Amino acid sequence: MLKCRDIGQLLYDYVEGVLDPPIRQQLEQHLADCPGCIAFVNTYRQTITLSKELREEEIPQELQQKLQSFIKEKLHEPGFWSRLRTRLTG
Ligand SMILES: [Zn+2]
Repeated sequence: MLKCRDIGQLLYDYVEGVLDPPIRQQLEQHLADCPGCIAFVNTYRQTITLSKELREEEIPQELQQKLQSFIKEKLHEPGFWSRLRTRLTG
């Protein structure tokens, strides 16, 4: 079973749709029981969608890529995920 702290590491691949199906299934099982992680996944997904929807004249592609790799890096930083989850869920 995946723990909350594992979710952050998998989230980028999950949202990109490139996560291995067995792991994806475990992640979805975790989400089914964990409102805190669901809240984060939704926020994360919105952030990614938003950064992808921004048109090039609004934000240069280079910056979009930087933003996305920044988010990805952050998710792999120890403690970031749990800090963010705590902030979102109280
Ligand atoms: Zn969780």
